[in-house]
Amino acid sequence: MLRIGLVMLQGARHAHLKALNTVSEELKLDIEIFELRNKNDLIECNPNAIVIPGGESTTMRLTGNSLNSQLFPELFEWMRKNPNLPVLGTCAGAILLSDPQDGGERIVDADISRNAFGNQSNSFQSMIYSSLLSRDFPGVFIRAPRFLDLGLKSSAVALLGEEVVGVRTNNRIALTFHPELSDDFGFHKWLLNEALEVFS
Ligand code: GLN
Repeated sequence: MLRIGLVMLQGARHAHLKALNTVSEELKLDIEIFELRNKNDLIECNPNAIVIPGGESTTMRLTGNSLNSQLFPELFEWMRKNPNLPVLGTCAGAILLSDPQDGGERIVDADISRNAFGNQSNSFQSMIYSSLLSRDFPGVFIRAPRFLDLGLKSSAVALLGEEVVGVRTNNRIALTFHPELSDDFGFHKWLLNEALEVFS
């Protein structure tokens, strides 16, 4: 049984639940999804993989850093201590991984700029190419951030034309789009396969 921690503070969480459940059925893998709202949820989950959804990173920070929750400080340290732990951060999730703002090193080693494609009306869909999946993938970009610069510990795993829209550091993937909002669950499949490999 794989234990998957899904950050449930705000934003596009439910589509990730569906994606993870669909892929686990397809792979005939037993998974348990733990909804992470506070530090204790994380400790109880003791995850084999983590998903940080999109939404509004400022709101997520306020909630995840609140005294009641304390999820983020614990989560970021957990990831730093476990570099092989598979992590998928999408859109706002990618912002948090690239810019954790807890004084520690970046979880995904890249500079990122919020809302850098423009406002809501500049949201768009486009096919991208992912070297992680070795194929094209439908990218859904909603008030998406942009990677400005990749650090030495990162590599590009998804491209929109020449532009990097997915970055990997260790076993953590940050995507500026929403893979859970398409009907292709390739990135969720990568996550579960990776968790299986690392923890079995
Ligand atoms: N613009 C949002 C932010 O800054 C991210 C958008 C998204 O997750 N779809 O957090």
